[in-house]
Amino acid sequence: MARGKPKLSIIPLGGVGEIGKNMTAYRYGEDIIVVDAGLKFPEEEMLGIDAVIPDIAYLVEHRDKVRAIFLTHGHEDHIGGLPYVLKSINVPVYGTRLTLGLVENKLREHGLADSVKLNRMDGNSHVRVGAFEVSFFYNNHSIPDTGGFAIKTPEGLVVHTGDFKFDHTPVDGRPADLHKLAAYGDQGVLALVADSTNAEREGFTPSERTVGRVIDDIVAQAPGRVILATFASNIHRMQQVIEAAERHGRKVAVVGRSMVNNIHIAVQLGYLHVRPGTMVDIDDIGKMAPEKVVVLCTGSQGEPMSALTRMARGAHRKIDIIPGDTVVLASSPIPGNEKYVARTIDQLFRAGANVIYRGVHVSGHGSQEELKLMLNLTRPKYFFPVHGEYRMQRTHARLAMDVGVPEENIFVLDLGDVVEIENGVARLGAKVTAGTVMIDGLGVGDVGNIVLRDRKLLSQDGILVVVVTLSKETGQVLSGPDIISRGFVYVRESEALLDEATRLVESTLTRMVADNISEWSSLKTAVRDALGRFLFDQTRRRPMILPIIMEA
Ligand SMILES: [Zn+2]
Ligand SMILES: [Zn+2]
Repeated sequence: MARGKPKLSIIPLGGVGEIGKNMTAYRYGEDIIVVDAGLKFPEEEMLGIDAVIPDIAYLVEHRDKVRAIFLTHGHEDHIGGLPYVLKSINVPVYGTRLTLGLVENKLREHGLADSVKLNRMDGNSHVRVGAFEVSFFYNNHSIPDTGGFAIKTPEGLVVHTGDFKFDHTPVDGRPADLHKLAAYGDQGVLALVADSTNAEREGFTPSERTVGRVIDDIVAQAPGRVILATFASNIHRMQQVIEAAERHGRKVAVVGRSMVNNIHIAVQLGYLHVRPGTMVDIDDIGKMAPEKVVVLCTGSQGEPMSALTRMARGAHRKIDIIPGDTVVLASSPIPGNEKYVARTIDQLFRAGANVIYRGVHVSGHGSQEELKLMLNLTRPKYFFPVHGEYRMQRTHARLAMDVGVPEENIFVLDLGDVVEIENGVARLGAKVTAGTVMIDGLGVGDVGNIVLRDRKLLSQDGILVVVVTLSKETGQVLSGPDIISRGFVYVRESEALLDEATRLVESTLTRMVADNISEWSSLKTAVRDALGRFLFDQTRRRPMILPIIMEA
């Protein structure tokens, strides 16, 4: 046989050098499995973009080898890209019950519910796909049913942690599978692929229970309504809010589509426990005494369209903020969202609410001591810090060195890097295509850098359209030029400027005709240049100029 023994490749397609759109491919010979298929929220300069998903060109190219997608948990940065991926590569999907419940809802929205095979896993599952045998272990995180995978390969065992913290008093009573991690360590772990989100934070991340006590105090002492915003996926926190309401004789109403959906799914699947009669319709709270009401809502990140943000602006259909309300932001702003959150808080104070926006949150990701514990339990030969921005990966690498992983066995990877492990030795192979695909409305990947550059120009100085009709025979101007502008100047107050611009276009065209120049591209360039210079002189602005030439 000419072909040698296959090697194991580990390929991060998302989630390294960034927070979001997590995706890792594992390949052994003719078999590929994928862990997670997340999305990421667009950066500020991605104007009009709704979401960002990983570039899966590598998987599409090898679609005949892709056997399955395994999901660590139900957060958007792990499952949000799944419908788009499945439209290109329809393979079986594996995940825990709650994760699949959330996925099902998503697939239904994309019309994929009937065409995708969902397979449930739990702590006892061992799934054989091609050369891989995949087992699930439980972690603690800010959504229930979260965990990681132990992936048995012919080269050895790979432990992929998923998002994790170690919470010894978890709200759902299910501790992390520390014993399994230790057992993997005893068997020998070839590689650990681990969450780096909180690598910069010292110590341990506190238990979610500590937030529960704070919420209980707030609900007990609030003079009127309590309106609490948190992540729509943080079932643990919602559970603690519901329990606090029940203890203090309040009813709970829920606002925000994603939160209503998630609560429905979580209650149905048994991940959220609510006493009969606790939940009330939002339309009924107007009739109730304020001190008997808790409102759970979305908008803790100041998202412009969310329930809390609308309430703060006085633009919510069902709820107005009134003096006496206690509004709680039970989260901390995701980097980049700080100014939206601050604006919402200001508006809530202006509306007369008492706003509590600090100290009602703990992270779902482990801090340095937990990351070290993960390393010490599994004692990997090779270590790959993922799920984090570059500095977080570097810091995580440093922690691994501190607990004794040799520096040369730690790889801080970029998107599309390929680690090849052969006969127990890892090295970097040739990179594969990886990056970002932008989603705008129904379009996936059709908006690229050129479109974005145009949007940026339009957003800065507006647009000016010049329409002119030329005679086919003589090249003389038959009608126009007409100038239409948007976002450039206030037309009613700029008639003189636009008149002069019109005359400039006219004279430019006349000169071109006199010089016997008639190709449209030259005419357009001349108009664009002359007008651009003139407008910059007059206004110090550079609108996008779009000459449209017609012939008659
Ligand atoms: Zn997560
Ligand atoms: Zn995550």
